[in-house]
Amino acid sequence: TGDPAVRVPDAADIASWWPRPGATSDKYTRGVVGLATGSAYYPGAALLSTAGALAGPTGMVRYAGSAHREVVRAHPSVVVADRVAEAGRVQAWVCGSGLGTGEEARTELRSVLATPLPVLLDADAINLLVGGEHAEDLRRDAPLVLTPHDGEFKRLAGEAPGADRAGAAARLAAWTNAVVLLKGDRTIVATPGGEIWANPTGSPALATAGSGDVLAGLLGSLLAAGVPAVRAAVAAAYVHGLAGRRAAWDGPVTAADVAAALRPAVGDLLG
Ligand code: AMP
Ligand code: MG
Repeated sequence: TGDPAVRVPDAADIASWWPRPGATSDKYTRGVVGLATGSAYYPGAALLSTAGALAGPTGMVRYAGSAHREVVRAHPSVVVADRVAEAGRVQAWVCGSGLGTGEEARTELRSVLATPLPVLLDADAINLLVGGEHAEDLRRDAPLVLTPHDGEFKRLAGEAPGADRAGAAARLAAWTNAVVLLKGDRTIVATPGGEIWANPTGSPALATAGSGDVLAGLLGSLLAAGVPAVRAAVAAAYVHGLAGRRAAWDGPVTAADVAAALRPAVGDLLG
């Protein structure tokens, strides 16, 4: 849109926000991201969110959930546990992608929300909010990021985003006190304070199963590395879009291809 209130990031913005390891960094000072994603039914969501997180700036990825065997087999650098309570120290949590909506999932969501850490809620974690913890109860001191697609947005907000997607995202952000990343061909990021960004790098190649799980992992890594929530959301959407375009060079794209294209996309951006 040409709305002057809606800002559009460029490559220089993203590059300036992206953390780089310093000469004396160690894996902990670079940040540790925790992933409470996937389930016995959806182990793929665990793998894809992990692959997304591994392309981010953190020095360690911890996975906590029932897909822990699959995750460590595919990604030997990931430290795994079978639930959030056993995961060890992290600096931010990603919760929801492929998590399911049963009692176990609810327990994991509660554990994550009880921490004083930045939290990203995606997919089933958003669906669980609708059926249980109410959005009004989400007021927490640490940052919260919600990453709904239109269906999840509608369940949470009670109505579809409609034509004014920036306005809709901004209203949900104000109501939930969260940074809202509303997915679409032009993904919107809105803050409770009224800041609104529109992502310019979308690619229709991203319209493929599991694509959002990759985004969630990457965004979580940025949060755990200490990037402010709004910048983490804008930067993750930007790089995810670039990776979708890059993956499409080689033909039809799966979410695993998007994840594999993230690191070269970051490399290009950071030069
Ligand atoms: P999810 O539905 O959770 O798998 O997320 C889908 C991801 O793909 C989001 O990051 C969307 O913004 C992105 N996406 C889906 N369709 C398109 C499209 N037509 N153009 C650009 N990005 C898209
Ligand atoms: Mg999704």
